[in-house]
This record gives sequence, C-alpha cells and structure tokens, in this order.
Amino acid sequence: MAAVSELIELTAAQAVERIRSREIDQRALFDAYRERAAGDELNAFTWVAERAPAPGPDADAPLAGVPVAVKDLFCTEGVPSQAGSRILEGYRPPYTATVVARLSEAGAPLLGKTNQDEFAMGSSNENSAFGPVRNPWDRSRVPGGSSGGSAAAVAAGLAPWAIGTDTGGSVRQPAALCGVVGLKPTYGACSRYGMIAFASSLDQAGPLTRDVTDAALLLRHMVGHDRRDCTSVQFPGEIELPRSEHLRGIKLGVPEELMDDAEAGIEQGVRTSFEGTLALAEELGASVERCRLPHARHALSAYYLIAPAEASANLARFDGVRYGLRVDGDAELVAMYSHTRAAGFGAEVKRRIMLGTYALSSGYYDAYYVTAQKVRTKIAEDFRAAFERFDFIATPTSPWTAFELGTKTADPLAMYLNDFCTVPMPLAGIPAISIPSGLSEGLPVGFQLTGPAFSESRLLDAAYALERRIGFDGSAARR
Ligand code: GLN
Repeated sequence: MAAVSELIELTAAQAVERIRSREIDQRALFDAYRERAAGDELNAFTWVAERAPAPGPDADAPLAGVPVAVKDLFCTEGVPSQAGSRILEGYRPPYTATVVARLSEAGAPLLGKTNQDEFAMGSSNENSAFGPVRNPWDRSRVPGGSSGGSAAAVAAGLAPWAIGTDTGGSVRQPAALCGVVGLKPTYGACSRYGMIAFASSLDQAGPLTRDVTDAALLLRHMVGHDRRDCTSVQFPGEIELPRSEHLRGIKLGVPEELMDDAEAGIEQGVRTSFEGTLALAEELGASVERCRLPHARHALSAYYLIAPAEASANLARFDGVRYGLRVDGDAELVAMYSHTRAAGFGAEVKRRIMLGTYALSSGYYDAYYVTAQKVRTKIAEDFRAAFERFDFIATPTSPWTAFELGTKTADPLAMYLNDFCTVPMPLAGIPAISIPSGLSEGLPVGFQLTGPAFSESRLLDAAYALERRIGFDGSAARR
C-alpha cells in the first residue's frame, strides 16, 4: 500500500490512472486527503466530509473516486453552503449544483467545502465570515480570492483538485497567487444552476488544479448543457486532454493596454517572469507580438459597475425570510429585513450593494450602467478583432504576487486593481487559463492565456506545452 506522502504527490489524473489499474485504493486516497483537509491550518476549508462515501464510486468511473474540494458558494444538498457569508448561517440547501452533481456522477465525491470571499466579492479571501485563508507558500500572505480556499487547498496538497467560480478573476488570480492552474471557461460552458449568484452575466465555474492535464480532465466533466440554466450551452465537442509539446504556428498577442498602463503597476518580478515565459513560448515555436485591446483599460471601471449592479439585484433575496440568518425586527417586517441584512452582510458586500443600487437608479442608469454595458461591448469587439490576427492573448494573471494579510483591506481601490488583467475576459465571455510561470522572491507568479469562445481544448494544449517547458515545482507548498 502506498504511503500517504506518495499518494499526495500524485496529480489527480495520475491518481485516477492508478485507481483504475488497482494499484491504489480509492478509499485510501480519500482518507489520506480527508485527514489532511481535517487538519487544515490554512483555514482553507469551511466543512470537511466525515468519511469516504460508501460504497465509493466505481473504480472504473472516469474520475475513479478522486475527491474534489468545492467552493462554499456551490449548493450541496444537506451540506453547509454559505458562500462565505454570515447571512447564510446554518443554510443547508435541498439540492446540489449541477456542476458538483456532474463531477460526482463522473466519480469525484465531495471532499469538503472551501473558504472564499463573501459572495465571491474580493481578491484576497479576507472578506469571509470564516476569516481569511493563508497562502501555503507564506502563511503571512493572502491566497488571492475569491476562490482562495480552493487554490490554497490544492497548492498545499489538502485536496487533489478543486472547483471555484470566476466572475472577474476569482479562479485565475488565486491560482496565480498559490502556484496552481486555474481556468475560467467560456460563459455558458458550465451550468450556473446551484451556484449562489454574484453577477449572473459573468459568473462561471472553473477548475483549480495542480497541473494543466488535471484542469482538462476536471473541466471535461463540468461542462455541458443544463436545461435548468437558460444561459448554459452544449459545449461543442469534448474537452480534450492536452498533449502538445510545442507551440509551432501559434501566434501570441501581448496587449499594450494591459502591460503598459501605469495604473496596473505590474511588479518587476511578475514582469520578469512573464517575459521569461514569452521567451520560452518562442523557443517552443510561437511568435510573440504586441497587440492592441484599445478598451481594455476601461474594463475594470465597467466591471465594477456591472458586477455590483447585478449583485445588488441578486442579493435582494437574502432578507431573513427564506434562508439562513434572521434578526428580529420587533414584530415589524421591514425592520426584520434591515436588521438581518445589516448583521448578515459584511462591509464589502454592503459597499457593492450600494454601488450597484446607485448605478441602477433612475437618473444615473444611463450615465453608469448603460455606459458600462457599451464599454463591455467594445471590449468584446477588441478581443474579436485581436483573434483575427492572434491565436491567444498573453498577459500576467495578477500584477502582483501574494501580498501580506491586511495590507490592502483599508483601500478597496487598491484591492480592485488586482483584477486589472482578469476582468476583461469575463466581460467578453471568453475563456482564459492561468498557469504558474515561476517564483518571484519565493512566491508564485501566474501567466495567463486567453482564447476565443470555446477554444478551451486549444488553450489547454498550449498551456500544457508551456507548463512542460517551465517545469514549475509546487512541492514546497505541500508540506
Ligand atoms: N476580485 C473580483 C471582485 O471582487 C472578482 C471576484 C470574482 O471573480 N468572483 O469582484
């Protein structure tokens, strides 16, 4: 029987292979991870399964019983699902999100629920009712957000793989800060049914994994049409497992607007790693050229109007009547609503509700919300034009590596700048992947590739070729 340390060193795809060939036992794998997750010192988990499911999934199932950690905002039947918020205290949904149900049908049982920024609003995981998550590379630093628990759990080897959600970067940015792979799929590829909504026109589920092959394998079993989400679509073809060893014929565009803008303030260490990765891409046969995304520098402003606007509508349902927390209003209904919302929502969520309500209010609607929507269209057009010349767009994922806990919480604008390179893609509905490109002063740096809608298989293939060439070693975080 393999020792726990050996089990933990397997990627999820390797674990699937070994379970199917009966070299290792799926229960032993589940128990090894369950124990590690239960002993989590990073605050990455908000709930951990008590035992392996009995009977376990069929060892011949596509995912062979390799368990998955799931961000708290996916509804899981009978299991706490709070989206990192106090207002959903005690909530156990009566149903399971489609994506989680699909993974479990493919043979990946639930290992646990992971910590996150409240309702996925944040870039550092410090906006959680459960307290912040720590970065396994340096525990005084943030893991990124909002899917910080999922990223930290995978990086630290507390879970073989995980899922998160990405509205403006919440899968890719924590993946970058924790040294794992994160992919945001094309809008509509994954059903949003059972995902507690933040900004419905942007939200997508995505995998967080140790390597690109694991991301492809997990994503393959997440996508697909779901009649319960009217924005979901049938993914054309299957997500293919990557195998490319070169990038010959691939044209990469590097957008001036996301690299040069002073506001983005891309750290020197991130720039150096990014440029090093572009050089490796060229060695693998890719061509690299500057390109233009003229409206990309306005993506952040548009995002921080559209996302809060949608959030202000989505979060109206949390009123103390239907779910979770209720704070008494001295027999007065409206007082009960307002006491519940005052006590249940954290500061950032309240800020977004106010911002969003303001942007949608009459008199300001055209000036803010409608303008932001026009900018959104322009950004999608910029990408469309760029993809006529380029296969993929390359940028750093985050302008910085993981920062110290507490250093940006007092300044929301500084926090929002994290998302400079990750918000344009969800606004355009297109897929993007972040892979670790190396370390800067001992902290992981993320490299982001963006492709046209439904280009996931090609994107994964290119990321895979780069990943092999980069040879990133994440084992230091898995102690
Ligand atoms: N950091 C961004 C925000 O706070 C993105 C969050 C997300 O993708 N869910 O809105």
